[in-house]
Amino acid sequence: MNVVRRTRKNASGRENLKSRGEAMPAQFYRVKCRDCDNEQVVFSRASTEVRCHICGTTLAEPTGGTAKIKGEITEELSHA
Ligand SMILES: [Zn+2]
Repeated sequence: MNVVRRTRKNASGRENLKSRGEAMPAQFYRVKCRDCDNEQVVFSRASTEVRCHICGTTLAEPTGGTAKIKGEITEELSHA
């Protein structure tokens, strides 16, 4: 009797790691203000200028698509 055992090398539970990078969905960034170190969450496609809550420095500028982030991105948050 011939027992064929199939080892499943690739069929593990790593389905969560979907490829990322095609047409990025809207996202949020945690952006650190360079002037006062305040951190706040900025929408990646902000359509209006985003300013620091504390000092008013521009943190993101709208470009029509993905906003231009002016501060330092400390974290990328997927949509909640
Ligand atoms: Zn600031």
